[in-house]
Amino acid sequence: MTTREYLAQVLELLQVDAKKSLGQNFLVSDHVVNKIITAVQKNQMDHLIEIGPGPGALTRHLFEGDYQLTLIELDRMFSKYWKEKLEEKVGTFQKVLIEQDALRADWDSIILKGKNNFLVSNLPYQISSSILIDRSIDENPLVGMALMFQKEVAQRIKSNSKDSNYGMLSVVAQTFWKIETLLEASSGDFSPSPKVASRVLTFERKETQIIDKKRFLKFVKQCFVHPRRMMIGNLQEGHLVKDQLLQVFKELEISEKTRPQELKVIQFEKLYFKLYSS
Ligand code: SAM
Repeated sequence: MTTREYLAQVLELLQVDAKKSLGQNFLVSDHVVNKIITAVQKNQMDHLIEIGPGPGALTRHLFEGDYQLTLIELDRMFSKYWKEKLEEKVGTFQKVLIEQDALRADWDSIILKGKNNFLVSNLPYQISSSILIDRSIDENPLVGMALMFQKEVAQRIKSNSKDSNYGMLSVVAQTFWKIETLLEASSGDFSPSPKVASRVLTFERKETQIIDKKRFLKFVKQCFVHPRRMMIGNLQEGHLVKDQLLQVFKELEISEKTRPQELKVIQFEKLYFKLYSS
């Protein structure tokens, strides 16, 4: 059955329409679905987590596998649908449905410690940046992710210093993940069709010396608090002392006039270590 046929069948069964308020643009493209499924399944996973299974364009291909499965869905009807499916089948591997806002879920207990946890989602656009930031600074990190974003957001995530859309999201994402573009999706790949194009990015966890990731996030946010102003001024506003800042910038051979968008990702990390670990 094609994805489009499958979608029509589930929506008919549940007697529901897509809800704009929940970012419900369902996948109808077999090509896009197949590429995401292949990218997910090539990973060695103990636990797969999906945000927003909805009617299940992706979920139906991921439901059976040698891994635990956790589905997080805010929509009542789709949660009920998947809960019933979970009750029908008791397999070897645990499957769980959490009916909750993924931004408020207890990720500390969802992510299995010491295991390979992987996240997949055709993300509802309202929560996509926050999910990426939150998963970047998890104490027990995921090993990887495959996530659909609006194209503009995906561009921001992968942009480089001096690009006009380079910012906090780019620095945080690129500090913690090796990021690749998996595919482009046009509005016709969804139903209902969104006005904008989308892009799927894959994320592979990077080794990092940063232990307090929350503090690093706070630091990067402070650096970009006024994106067009000089970094030193931004950091002073964050209660760092000017003389110390001037000294550290000099040691790292960064001009004191540097603005946040001019600094490479790796330089943020170096600056952070100099300021907070010495
Ligand atoms: N996975 C399906 C697909 O690819 O066709 C549906 C994707 S649709 C873009 C987004 C899904 O996320 C919907 O099922 C929606 O109900 C769900 N959703 C929206 N906001 C959510 C939130 N805050 N937490 C968890 N799920 C959410």
